[in-house]
Amino acid sequence: MELSGLQIFKYLPAAKKSADANCKECGCPTCMAFALKLAKGNTKIENCKHVPDELKNIYQKSQKLAQKTVEIKGLKTGGENVLFRHEKTFLNPTALCVLLDCAAPDFEKKFERVKNFEICILNKTKKVDLIILKNSQILQQKTNFSPAEIDAEHSNRVIYLEDFQKLPIKIIEDEKFTKTANELKFIREKAIKEKDENYSAPVCVHFAKLAHSEKINELCAKAAFYICKYANMIIFEDFNEAMFSSLMTLRENIFTDPQKPLKVESKIYEFNEPSENSLIFLTTNFALTFFAVANELENLKTSSYLIVIPADGMSVLTAWSAEKFTAKTVVQMLKKTNFSEKVKNRKIIIPGLLAHMKKELDAAIKSAGLDFEIVIGTIDACDIADFVKSRL
Ligand code: SF4
Repeated sequence: MELSGLQIFKYLPAAKKSADANCKECGCPTCMAFALKLAKGNTKIENCKHVPDELKNIYQKSQKLAQKTVEIKGLKTGGENVLFRHEKTFLNPTALCVLLDCAAPDFEKKFERVKNFEICILNKTKKVDLIILKNSQILQQKTNFSPAEIDAEHSNRVIYLEDFQKLPIKIIEDEKFTKTANELKFIREKAIKEKDENYSAPVCVHFAKLAHSEKINELCAKAAFYICKYANMIIFEDFNEAMFSSLMTLRENIFTDPQKPLKVESKIYEFNEPSENSLIFLTTNFALTFFAVANELENLKTSSYLIVIPADGMSVLTAWSAEKFTAKTVVQMLKKTNFSEKVKNRKIIIPGLLAHMKKELDAAIKSAGLDFEIVIGTIDACDIADFVKSRL
């Protein structure tokens, strides 16, 4: 189990109120600062000469990797070191794989669907992580089939079942939901809490082909649970595009780093083929804000630009209070993109939450030799359409 700063602190001299408390020998101003740095891996335990043996032992154990990482053609699986995402972060998203039987009469049709499936989540293309082929000798006799060629042609990873089975991965055959869920929990807890090497292999759940009485939505619900707790890989014999889209979207939420805000690229985005007279909106590069605004702009009956200011992925008010969204950054962005050359419209609509910045922005833009004027827009993205209709 990873140690938190507070867990470390309670062993240090300041917590024990001993004479060496906050002596600064470690280079940190206080024992608490040292504990927080150590928890983040930004300092070494040896830097404090007053660490008791008890903490040294616990810390050493916590540094042992809980789960082994297995790499399959660049796909990393396992390697997790925490039980809950908020403790630090999960590292390698649950790999969603499809097992196809080359001897099945509908193999080629199904293979095409699996190979060509892709969805875009937060501007990234997602495909089936691994295609596993059973009875591949049939295919090899029929054609000059080569997994390497498929990999290169479709950016898929293809592996023969016999090769997959040789990997150091524990496979759980899914029979009953509670049995699989309990086994996944037991194995992950053994690996993380006890660092038990007998349970350190990545774990893969295999769903056998659905019987006629079973439904795809039940399979999807079970897989959703296993993604959260604690499958490193899932193998499906049934392929359904809607199920994969839902599971990949869920997975994206679970496996993002909670310490890093989701951000989009800072640039000028275009909606509905804008011209030099189109509307101009402005916001920060916080992904949630961006997609809320972008969705509204896409659906407007008119065309527009959206200037996305770099703000470390913070929402507008947070960025303003952290001084990431300033008049200077706005002017820099306008100059860097040479935006005044591109458009005749001189009105930039800013989020209503930044109304208090209008004067400052107008002044900075003017003193930079630009002639844009700031217009205060709506607080909520969902009001943009009404705002455009009534005000512009
Ligand atoms: Fe505290 Fe140890 Fe750093 Fe001194 S050297 S401030 S006792 S952590």
